[in-house]
Amino acid sequence: MIEVRGFCPSIHQPMRERDGLLVRIQLPTGEITTDQAHLIADAAESIGCETLELTNRANLQLRGLDEAGSAILRDRLIEAGLAQTDPAAEAVRGVLVNPTAGLDPTELLDLRPLARALDRLLTDTPALHHLPAKLGFRLDGGGRFALGMRPAAFGLVAESDTVLRLWLGEQPTDLLCRPGEAVAMAARLLERYLAITETDAVRRRPGAVADELLETLNRHPRFRGDDEGKTLRPGSHVQRPISETGLLYIAATVPAGRLTPVTLRTIGDIAQSFGSGVVRLSPWRLILLPDIRPSDGADVAAGLALHGLATRADDPWAGLVPCVGRRGCAASATDTLADAAVLARRLAGLLDHPLHLDISGCAKGCARRGPADAALIGTENGMYEMRIGGDIVGEFPADAAVDQLVRLAQDFAADRPIAESFAGYYRRIGAIHG
Ligand code: SF4
Repeated sequence: MIEVRGFCPSIHQPMRERDGLLVRIQLPTGEITTDQAHLIADAAESIGCETLELTNRANLQLRGLDEAGSAILRDRLIEAGLAQTDPAAEAVRGVLVNPTAGLDPTELLDLRPLARALDRLLTDTPALHHLPAKLGFRLDGGGRFALGMRPAAFGLVAESDTVLRLWLGEQPTDLLCRPGEAVAMAARLLERYLAITETDAVRRRPGAVADELLETLNRHPRFRGDDEGKTLRPGSHVQRPISETGLLYIAATVPAGRLTPVTLRTIGDIAQSFGSGVVRLSPWRLILLPDIRPSDGADVAAGLALHGLATRADDPWAGLVPCVGRRGCAASATDTLADAAVLARRLAGLLDHPLHLDISGCAKGCARRGPADAALIGTENGMYEMRIGGDIVGEFPADAAVDQLVRLAQDFAADRPIAESFAGYYRRIGAIHG
């Protein structure tokens, strides 16, 4: 039986980590205003929190809190309308919408209204508060930059400007609906899911009960949509014109997804000064600032870079994904954040397209986000197993692993024929430096 395990930290139910309590703020459309950025930054500073993180569901979390601080934060967020008073209502929130919704001229549907409606359905329907917290919806309007398989039990993906397809986990179903029907369909689906799994000791995932779940809903003939889409590459510093307005949105990578309250406040200020006072968070450790005039693009990028964000497409941080490692997780064998920082510094300026490097402190592999050029996985104190393109290369002390990767990247940059992958290059030369 596939089981739904664990819980997601919320403002009512913080998670204890090595560096203190972890609290997550749910943002159903991944947007915060400048005022909200200030409010969160002020609250964080007032309780001594120095680190905020972007999550892989485009939410914000605060680290290193104590009990008193998390209670103060909870009250402020509720007062500001950023969280629910009812812990059960807050626990079931989990809607992720494509961060380019409403900005991408190639998208089929802007699903932000649906995201808000689904969030209301989850919070305002007491019967649904029995859902496991780790369920969630991902909503993708079918534009240029697909969300891909972000963690969510249910997906609603636009296949035309009038049709959405339901996904269960990573599997498309035959079930189609119109945008206006989606909330009612979701309500029936969730109620049915609760009924089917009512007697489970731990509720099975929706994908494990797919047949029972879907036979209760209207079926439609299946047609194939184009499920493959390009990903908005972390750090690709996208400046895409919005056809109707001539305005741009600018993307910048937050290194390791971690930022200080000061940086959050500054990002909000830049959004206010140059854009519409809105910051979009993404599941890719990118923030997006919409509604920027083309003539202000360089100033916005410079302002973000001044505060440590990566605004160049070739910045190594665009491809580096460390988990929190030893600083926040007791399971970690290594200081992933320090090793990532060394890699970012030593790889700077080497390659046009940054390598996708995952760095996890243990075999659980929290940094993993799909295929990587290389991965470092903590094994025992200070040691990494190195993988390149999935091949296990060996086990090294952290310094040596970083050094090996840098030297291989230097050779790759100097030698590679056009279009050869990092893994392909490694396999061709057949060795790394001894
Ligand atoms: S990969 Fe391991 S060390 Fe890193 S956050 Fe996950 S459990 Fe902790």
